[in-house]
Amino acid sequence: MLNIVIFGPPGSGKGTQSENLIKKYGFDHISTGDLLRHEIETNTQLGYLAKQHMDKGELVPDEVVIGMIDSFLDKNVKSKGVIFDGFPRTTDQAKALKEMLASYDTDVAILLDLEVPEDELTKRILERGKTSGRTDDANIETIKNRIAEYNKKTKPVMDFYAAEGKKVVINGVGSVDEIFANLCKAIDAVK
Ligand code: ADP
Repeated sequence: MLNIVIFGPPGSGKGTQSENLIKKYGFDHISTGDLLRHEIETNTQLGYLAKQHMDKGELVPDEVVIGMIDSFLDKNVKSKGVIFDGFPRTTDQAKALKEMLASYDTDVAILLDLEVPEDELTKRILERGKTSGRTDDANIETIKNRIAEYNKKTKPVMDFYAAEGKKVVINGVGSVDEIFANLCKAIDAVK
């Protein structure tokens, strides 16, 4: 099982590139953001709780998302590869992921860090907000808070993987195809 973390700030292109990677490699994909939005749409209790945080641009509590990953792994033990998109977002989530994967005798192979400057992120998210229907994409304060949460709580996750020699920086500015080609090069090097 080849485990790939696609990483980067909100609006860096993780979702778009994950879709391309799934098509090319036939990997499975888990996006905690998508799963949380599904919980909200289907009016579950978990969705109700998540919404309180997401609408403010805050992270959802670790135990909620860790539980989601746990049940995903349980159902995908035979996967040839998994793309983790939007997870881990805190160092505690990274530690939990390591433990969960260890119970399947596997680990994260690579973290792909999509680098995009902050002013470009805000522009992209506001643009996406015109059509995404995501309330957290339409409000400038929420967007600013998501980027602040990223800088404070999520960036340290990179150090966790850098210490294991697994972090690869990818320029997230350019055409989707160009960025995709660079992601593929990095994946092919660990395959
Ligand atoms: P983006 O990367 O554009 O912020 P996501 O769909 O990945 O979009 O995340 C949307 C929101 O969902 C986040 O702002 C956060 O509130 C919540 N969320 C998603 N993944 C996690 C996670 N791993 N830990 C905590 N909160 C999360």
